[in-house]
Amino acid sequence: MPPTDSRFRCTLDTMAQMIYLDHNATTPILPEVLDAMMPCLTAEWGNPSSAYKFGSKLKSVIATALEQVAELIGAHSMDVIFTSCATEGNNAAIAAALRANPAKRHIVTSQVEHSSVLNYCMALEKSGTPLLGQEGAGGGRSLGQEGAGGGPYRVTYLPVDRDGLLNLADLEAAITGQTAVVSLMWANNETAVLFPVEQVAEICRARGILYHCDAVQAAGKVPIDVRKIPVDYLSVTGHKFHAPKGIGALYVRRKAPFSPLIWGGHQERNRRGGTESVPLIVGLGKAAELARRHLPDYEKKVRPLRDQLEEGIMGSVSNTELNGDKFQRLANTTNITFRGIESEPLLILLDKEGICASSGSACLADSDEPSHVVKAMKPTTAASRQMIRFSLGASTTGGEVGSAVTGVGGATKALQSAVTQP
Ligand code: PLP
Repeated sequence: MPPTDSRFRCTLDTMAQMIYLDHNATTPILPEVLDAMMPCLTAEWGNPSSAYKFGSKLKSVIATALEQVAELIGAHSMDVIFTSCATEGNNAAIAAALRANPAKRHIVTSQVEHSSVLNYCMALEKSGTPLLGQEGAGGGRSLGQEGAGGGPYRVTYLPVDRDGLLNLADLEAAITGQTAVVSLMWANNETAVLFPVEQVAEICRARGILYHCDAVQAAGKVPIDVRKIPVDYLSVTGHKFHAPKGIGALYVRRKAPFSPLIWGGHQERNRRGGTESVPLIVGLGKAAELARRHLPDYEKKVRPLRDQLEEGIMGSVSNTELNGDKFQRLANTTNITFRGIESEPLLILLDKEGICASSGSACLADSDEPSHVVKAMKPTTAASRQMIRFSLGASTTGGEVGSAVTGVGGATKALQSAVTQP
């Protein structure tokens, strides 16, 4: 079913052949974004650091993109740094906070963060250096409340309840005089559950602790205003809101300490070395502008469709269970456990029907690991191996949702009868 929203006209060919319900993994580039990028991919290929006009005039293009990204999050453009992705932004923020507080060796995060935070924290527990702590930390390790790394950094991985919600009393109790930084996300990528970022920021501020927020899934879906919510660092990535992959941004509050993760030239006002990718930066800026403009309609558009999908599936397939709080979550996502059915064969059957969904974070999709998020919520059940995340976008149509309900019904029936066959 092709998208009816004209903003998505360039994706018509591919979107007509599939039902894409994995917008938390990535999103298609909008035509306006591509149009904005094209001059910098063709005629305007100069280096913005050059002394001559052909290059240096691109500084104003970058400045415009900085403004556009800053406006999406209520920031001043001087406080935004372009990054290659949110993984870099997350690593850079945590590293900067740690380097600024060398005597403090404790990090607080949660068990349900994205791997770009979790694996970085685990690497820090092992290697103990925020500059070089990048080695893999055994992605499949299950998280207790205290990491068992034994290195010079100690990490507290806060638990969540059965609905994926954070208990602020746990956060209060976890913070000690040794805590350098708290890293807690805005919205979970698998369940879409929203963390109480405002209260987290207040607690951190009151205790004098730096707060980093991974806002990747929130950007373009809910209003973000760093003037109202005093985070110290906040990361976003373009490909979740219709910009290309390979570009993100990190907000750093004016008074928060920062030193680069990537050392090099004077780009990004000495905060990240490397020649700026002008086309990607322009694409991110345009996508941010469009996301801000369409934000008031986004929820109105996707929530009824998400609810239709959720009710359609849970009303027609037996033994289903919702993962994540029904109310405190983003409007575009439903995460459902299909009891007795493993995620992988179900995803394969859905793929055959042209339905794109996932069994957790796209970054871990090929790892064969159960969802660490659902495992943290429901550790004593098989829910983490039997769940599917469906995430809608502004281009999703009612027709696609109807077809997806039918497709999921057919696929689950086929798998249930395969199990009951002698
Ligand atoms: N944080 C969250 C919550 C995410 O969902 C993702 C990507 O899925 C990332 C961080 C990493 O973003 P990137 O792919 O830009 O590194």
